[in-house]
Amino acid sequence: MEKKISPLDVAMKQVDIAAQKLNLEPGLYEKIKQTKRDLIVHFPVKMDDGRIRVFTGYRVQHNMTRGPGKGGIRYHPDVDLDEVRALAMWMTWKAAVVNIPFGGAKGGVRCDPKSMSIQELENMTRRFTWEIAMMIGPDKDIPAPDVYTNPQVMAWIMDTYSTLKGYTVHGVVTGKPLELGGSLGRYEATGKGVFVTALEAIKQRKIKIHGARVVVQGCGNVGGIAAQYFDKAGAKVIAISDSRGGVYNKKGLNISEVLDCKKKYSCVISKKIKLGDEISNEELLELNCDILVPSALENQITEKNASKIKAKIITEGANGPTTPDADRILFEKNVFLVPDILANAGGVTVSYFEWVQNLQELLWSEEEISDRLTRIMKRSFAEVFNISRREKVDMRTAALILGIGRVAEATKLRGIYP
Ligand code: NAD
Repeated sequence: MEKKISPLDVAMKQVDIAAQKLNLEPGLYEKIKQTKRDLIVHFPVKMDDGRIRVFTGYRVQHNMTRGPGKGGIRYHPDVDLDEVRALAMWMTWKAAVVNIPFGGAKGGVRCDPKSMSIQELENMTRRFTWEIAMMIGPDKDIPAPDVYTNPQVMAWIMDTYSTLKGYTVHGVVTGKPLELGGSLGRYEATGKGVFVTALEAIKQRKIKIHGARVVVQGCGNVGGIAAQYFDKAGAKVIAISDSRGGVYNKKGLNISEVLDCKKKYSCVISKKIKLGDEISNEELLELNCDILVPSALENQITEKNASKIKAKIITEGANGPTTPDADRILFEKNVFLVPDILANAGGVTVSYFEWVQNLQELLWSEEEISDRLTRIMKRSFAEVFNISRREKVDMRTAALILGIGRVAEATKLRGIYP
């Protein structure tokens, strides 16, 4: 059997590459490589048939030197401590790359949400919130949506936490519904950030957005929204997929039809509507295109398929879709890769706006949020790009140099207690 690539090994290798470039002193290196706090909980949930099932959940805080922990909660059958630790670490670097005052955290429950009813998901979410309540809070650690969690799940977390406290605590989660203190533009934020950084990247490759061929893996919050932005800007989204496979049309897909199909049938492939030719997720990654947007899970582009990638630009909507071996191959092939900790940082950026609005009990306009987000994404892209030029390294190493460098500097300034 093929050995599963560990996301934590990938995250550690990335730290090693950047730490060498930064010439980090050994103690500092040891500190930033470790997660600060890992909580594992096993908790009972009453299912619809009256039986009790025990689920395993995690909340990991990697580093809180620059501010409270921030990171999503994932519901997926493959969630384990290793993955959550890697995702928490990437959150630390990401918040530092876009220079917002958060540390990195992540959480998840090992479960198959597709096989659970709404009531079971609510029961599981509320009990999980209770289990991790001692770790989270607006000043401590603020969860948000990730794979297979959404604004409704955030509403349940906020309600459970508020009930425990005895008063409404808006700022305990971000990505909430608008009616409960959510922010305008949060739902679109990650996809929009992916699009904005792709626009910056295509300038470097002298490609025009109008008519550019785009391939998107994953049709959820990140991939679906990014596809809409590319489509609106005149690009041709020629393929898009979800966990069951993808659809392909070399003339360009009708994205609103694809998203309607996904909404109606929970799938981009349907016997009822012919959207394009069926294609596997593996084939999709290797399509001839200008921009590839992996927006599903980790370890999609590896040593095995990197040499077959034909995209000129890769903009990582997902966290950890590319392994370090694949990074090396893509760099040698002159593929311009915008790494996850930059490309998908729009989500955490507007989460930060949501948190600020909650703490100040203010509401910002959609325009204000969109302008601030675009400014931060463009500025961060320019900073990372300049480092990549100066140090003659790929964009991932440059982003890690920026992110890890900022965390290291903050650690030195705070010093070690006692
Ligand atoms: P989501 O649950 O909204 O969507 C996930 C999509 O991926 C779904 O369409 C699902 O069918 C598809 N998918 C699942 N397994 C797949 C597979 N093996 N192959 C192809 N497609 C598959 O989740 P999301 O919020 O869009 O998150 C997607 C990625 O983006 C994750 O890596 C997540 O960590 C990252 N991310 C999300 C946010 C955010 O704000 N939601 C922010 C930054 C990064």
